[in-house]
Amino acid sequence: MAICKYMNDCQFFGPEVGYSPEMYEHLRQGFCLGDSHECARLKAVRMIGPECIPDDLLPTETERLHEITIKMGLHH
Ligand code: SF4
Repeated sequence: MAICKYMNDCQFFGPEVGYSPEMYEHLRQGFCLGDSHECARLKAVRMIGPECIPDDLLPTETERLHEITIKMGLHH
């Protein structure tokens, strides 16, 4: 298990998370403490920059990230 290197800065860990505790814990175990390289939020740090990541983007929302990059004109 590798802890995500972005954990200290990630808004997913902010106090405003509105997800159910079960869902939050499931995602945290699966991504933040597990397969973080598959996390859409971590990919977003590289692709669009931390300041552009929607606070509510879920680690599973790779497709949504893809749409954001298209809207930003970053997709080639
Ligand atoms: S949500 Fe993603 S980017 Fe944020 S700490 Fe977890 S694995 Fe890292």
